[in-house]
Amino acid sequence: MIETSTKMAYTFGGENTEGNATMKNLLGGKGANLAEMAAIGIPVPAGFTITTEVCNWVVGHDMAHPDGLEDQVREAITHTEKAMGGRIFGDSSNPLLLSVRSGARASMPGMMDTVLNIGLNDTTIQGLIEKSGSDRFAYDSYRRFVQMYGDVVLLVRDENHDPFEQLLEAKKEARGVELDTDLTAEDLKELVAEFKAMVKERTGADFPDDPMTQLWGAIDAVFQSWDNPRAWHYRRINSIPHDWGTAVNVQAMVFGNMGETCATGVAFTRDPSTGERRFYGEYLINAQGEDVVAGIRTPQPINISGKDPENPLSSMEEEFPQCYAELEAIYHKLEQHYKDMQDIEFTVEDNKLWMLQTRAGKRTGFAAVRIAAEMLEEGLIDEKTAVLRVDPNQLTQLLLPVFDRDAKTAAIADGRQLAKGLNAGPGAAAGTLVLSADEAVLRAEKGDKVILVRIETSPEDIQGMHVSQGILTSRGGMTSHAAVVARGMGKSCVAGCGALDIDYGAGTVKVAGRTLKEGDSISIDGMTGEVFEGSIPVRASEIVQVLIDEEMAPEESKIFQDFNRILTLAKGYATLGVRTNADSPLDSTVARKFGAEGIGLCRTEHMFFEEARIDAVREMIVAKDVEGRRGALEKILPMQQSDFEGIFRAMDGLPVTIRALDPPLHEFLPHGDAEITDLAGKMGVDAGELKSTVESLTESNPMLGHRGCRLGIVYPEITAMQARAILQAACVVAGEGVDVHPEIMIPLVGHVKELELQRKVVLETAEQVFEEMGRKVDYLIGTMIELPRAALTADEIAHEAEFFSFGTNDLTQTALGLSRDDAGRFLPFYVEQGIYEADPFGSLDQSGVGQLVRMGFEKGRATRSDLKVGICGEHGGDPKSVAFCHDVGLNYVSCSPYRVPVARLAAAHAALNQE
Ligand code: PEP
Ligand code: MG
Repeated sequence: MIETSTKMAYTFGGENTEGNATMKNLLGGKGANLAEMAAIGIPVPAGFTITTEVCNWVVGHDMAHPDGLEDQVREAITHTEKAMGGRIFGDSSNPLLLSVRSGARASMPGMMDTVLNIGLNDTTIQGLIEKSGSDRFAYDSYRRFVQMYGDVVLLVRDENHDPFEQLLEAKKEARGVELDTDLTAEDLKELVAEFKAMVKERTGADFPDDPMTQLWGAIDAVFQSWDNPRAWHYRRINSIPHDWGTAVNVQAMVFGNMGETCATGVAFTRDPSTGERRFYGEYLINAQGEDVVAGIRTPQPINISGKDPENPLSSMEEEFPQCYAELEAIYHKLEQHYKDMQDIEFTVEDNKLWMLQTRAGKRTGFAAVRIAAEMLEEGLIDEKTAVLRVDPNQLTQLLLPVFDRDAKTAAIADGRQLAKGLNAGPGAAAGTLVLSADEAVLRAEKGDKVILVRIETSPEDIQGMHVSQGILTSRGGMTSHAAVVARGMGKSCVAGCGALDIDYGAGTVKVAGRTLKEGDSISIDGMTGEVFEGSIPVRASEIVQVLIDEEMAPEESKIFQDFNRILTLAKGYATLGVRTNADSPLDSTVARKFGAEGIGLCRTEHMFFEEARIDAVREMIVAKDVEGRRGALEKILPMQQSDFEGIFRAMDGLPVTIRALDPPLHEFLPHGDAEITDLAGKMGVDAGELKSTVESLTESNPMLGHRGCRLGIVYPEITAMQARAILQAACVVAGEGVDVHPEIMIPLVGHVKELELQRKVVLETAEQVFEEMGRKVDYLIGTMIELPRAALTADEIAHEAEFFSFGTNDLTQTALGLSRDDAGRFLPFYVEQGIYEADPFGSLDQSGVGQLVRMGFEKGRATRSDLKVGICGEHGGDPKSVAFCHDVGLNYVSCSPYRVPVARLAAAHAALNQE
């Protein structure tokens, strides 16, 4: 309801600011912020905000104005005139010009944006000429105004071109000049008349010369734009209620381009790239805001300390000392007030400083951590705020090797950027291009840094992947073998880079019209998916040097200290535990140093990827009978046991979940005749026979085939061997005094009976082992929930399980019916189209797969109230998915070692955001 007495226009600036930051619903985001700045005494050009309530009323009353609105607007203009030192709207000697902008609660594309210079006409322009001393400047402003107003308010526009621009082009052609700036004041004056004539011809009405008419036209255009189809569409997609309405901000114009006493600039209150506490910014004399960002003129530093010794352009501190001193005082005030690093925009008009905007500044991960830690130290923010200030995803930046920034810029400038794939394993890497794992090993032994480039990777590439700086594949998605293994190793990986045409036979990679050969240099950035020709220098992360490599003392690294401070605080707030997915003692140690509270998934098949072991595994897979299999298993057992011992020692005191074998068989089978002959030789069997065995094991859908517990169901001796290796290892290390907590996990269970059978095998084996070893250790038996049927029947399954771990990689694959191995080819298109907001293999599909997780959790707990429940799919390291897991009530998430800090911070955020 709006009555005449309702306040419809809130003034800001000068002596009378009526709104503040808490009034976003009524004044919109922009209006509330302008009011807040003015309220704390920052010099903003004065103006007023018409409320969102008025917008709703107008839109609901066929664009009529409520009684009293026009009077309130007139009063607000009087306020603005006074606050701007007596400029008068419509006056010919000292004219006030206004801007009109929309401003909803959330910024919204599809709405009318901005009209500048309202109030200009053939009379008021005289005042502008006088004030600026430049009739060219004045007429240029005038023609821009008519053009903008004609376009956004009067809607004089054509589908494929801007009719005003056409007239402008025609004028330049007639004058024989190329640039807008070459047109004279007289030319621009003619253009204004031509623009107006076109408006009249197209709309049938004269271009409005009366300033008040101009202003109302613009205000009504903002209201109308709230109701246009594009805005409706945007609101529908983004769930923005239609009745929010938009506010309208009317503000005095100030000019930074009215001569040498004018300037404009942007600044950050701290360095947005490093976080260093220094005032940092750029400005231009006699320029408009967009000139600073457009990069046509080289901006000058705002202060002496920011001067480049190579190119010492004079600073604002020297040229406008008073304005600079004022700006410095203002930035301190803004930081104190908003308690965050600010990104500010300012203009100097006639030696008077005006602040146009302030907002929280965008920053790198490095800057986010440093600013949060230092602001906490300075007493500006509290501990919770410090934790919430760092975006968990940004932490990965701090752990990775990075390209030298200047060298990367130079590479782009030189046209050495070749292609873009999926950013599958973050980190920058450079080295010699190799096309096979063997070549990688050979070259690495000689001390070369190599990048392994493959169509896709498989277990026999593991050695090669280990010795490479990074991995690049032309096929496969975010959970392809290459991506999962690379992330586990903390290696850079660009996967699914379809632009690469890899020819193993010729030893070449064709891309972007070039042909690279094995031995050429190549660089990849797994953070962005970019691929470059040549070698771009890489720098190591200091945090890794301190924490993992122990090559640097903590006191030597400021960024390590800040990182540590934030993560230590995070630990205090998180209620969700964070474990790691690790398959080796080394990975376990790394993860523990990053703060992992145990292992959530040890994929035992990954332990076989090493060359010496893979043959034994293959022998086991292709064995014809139990005898053959037992023979192979006997070879495997000691290797497994010693790995487990190493992992248990590294995880002394913490739980270790070890999963029974889950090899998608195709990843292990020998490929091609040569490999088959080789294996046959080693096994002492006939190659032809082996070939037919391999063929008989080949599956059409290996991801849905004989894997997971199905292997142990058909061949219980495999599960028995693994249980034996785990428990023997546990007894051995317990004997050394290690505090060991094994958890044996059965994968890909769909039916409770599968678990029942596998559990029986484990229990029987345990009894034997404990008797043989003369020692007992406590252990748990649980299962993965990674099939929809398991989630649907989790209440039954929980009778046989002491813990659940959601395998959301397979659960996503099976719930969505999307193959993990093939989806990479078309999923990016789905994400582009907005069908899925993000890759569902990277960020949990909460409304779909999430329901299965919630149901599985609730059903499991209904049967067994103390059931331990975690998640160990790739989603365990994705902050949004971590927040979801917290919300469901899981005990922990498990992710690859290098994601552990991210998950820890995300878990703290989830807890704090729920408070
Ligand atoms: C899963 O399916 O989520 C899982 C962790 O198992 P894997 O990725 O090994 O299939
Ligand atoms: Mg799985």
